[in-house]
Amino acid sequence: MAQGELNIPSPDERQVVICLYCNKPQEVGRKTLSMTCKFCNKSLRLQHIPVKGYEARRSIETLGIVTVEKKGNVVTDRILCGGLVVRGKVKGNINSRGPVLVSPEAEIRGDITAPTLAVGAGAVLEGRYNIGPETPAAPAMKALPPANRS
Ligand SMILES: [Zn+2]
Repeated sequence: MAQGELNIPSPDERQVVICLYCNKPQEVGRKTLSMTCKFCNKSLRLQHIPVKGYEARRSIETLGIVTVEKKGNVVTDRILCGGLVVRGKVKGNINSRGPVLVSPEAEIRGDITAPTLAVGAGAVLEGRYNIGPETPAAPAMKALPPANRS
């Protein structure tokens, strides 16, 4: 007699997330909002974070999408996220697992590491960009001296 069959969660209720800190994939429930990495024991947030006003924080870290709305103004050391949409202002270094979308009216001052970057004409970007599918795990990104600009 098979018992407990009804308790097996269907595959639809699971998702694979990749730890922001140690880059190890692991399965979690689709509705999970926060968890502890099985490998490095750091706490991970999975929810999307909307920013609608001024926010000064040491860091913003989530596997979800960070959306900075038009009136949003983020001042932070770093943003670690699953994706980023900027319609307002961001000051800080960005390390995104997913696409970074920058609206024409946006303003970003900081370095950006992301697999893809889409920038609307007119957006203000000040920083260095490391764009490509291979996102190196760089726990402490040290800014190199800026290249000479002619
Ligand atoms: Zn981890």
